[in-house]
Amino acid sequence: MLFIEGVSKSYQSRRVLNDVSFTISPGERVALMGPSGSGKSTLLNCISGLDSPDEGTITFDGSDLTTLSIDERTLIRRSRLGSIFQFFHLLPTMTARENVALSLQLNGYSATDQKTLSEEMLGEVGVLHRADAFPREMSGGEMQRVAIARALVIKPKLLLADEPTGNLDTNNGERVLSLIESLSNAHQVALILVTHQEETTRICNRTLHIHDGKLTESEEQTRT
Ligand code: ADP
Ligand code: MG
Repeated sequence: MLFIEGVSKSYQSRRVLNDVSFTISPGERVALMGPSGSGKSTLLNCISGLDSPDEGTITFDGSDLTTLSIDERTLIRRSRLGSIFQFFHLLPTMTARENVALSLQLNGYSATDQKTLSEEMLGEVGVLHRADAFPREMSGGEMQRVAIARALVIKPKLLLADEPTGNLDTNNGERVLSLIESLSNAHQVALILVTHQEETTRICNRTLHIHDGKLTESEEQTRT
């Protein structure tokens, strides 16, 4: 489903990703760990097509992203990929329902489908009662649930999560993590989960470590 081969990327002659290769199967959950500045977000940005590597290939769902134009990559990102972030990145002027509906609107869904599917997804993440609330009126846990609904409402094959519990307290972090795990199972969504916390990797099948742009996999941690 995702094949990354020999990916390298430099910024101002500094090598941020150095010959990175790995594969992710459908529905597989992979943790990505590494110190600050080691290239984790850069790697996610290359996978989501926001950035492009200097060398190597990234094949997602049958398309080699490195051969596509920015517009073609944007289309794939909107329609087949979900992303969530440490600071949620909800649009502040839109309600929870509108934030989720926007994902569908960008993919050409009708107004009726936008409403039905958004509410269904908000229900699934447990915040349907907050559908008309704006981000500033919500708790961190609620905002991350809305962000998860926004990411998954388009039924993507891959969810990219960049420190999704990094801005939540332990309890809310645990609950959001369990939610991600159960939704990944229910919808057969593969996951790349960037984290600093070892305990967060419990929902993942494998753990990848990145140091100075070099990727290694700790085989002993491989779980099924
Ligand atoms: P991480 O997410 O692991 O903390 P990043 O991938 O964000 O690390 O960054 C890796 C390195 O690349 C850092 O040294 C960062 O300063 C640099 N970097 C990231 N994005 C850019 C950019 N757009 N321009 C220049 N340098 C960048
Ligand atoms: Mg980062």
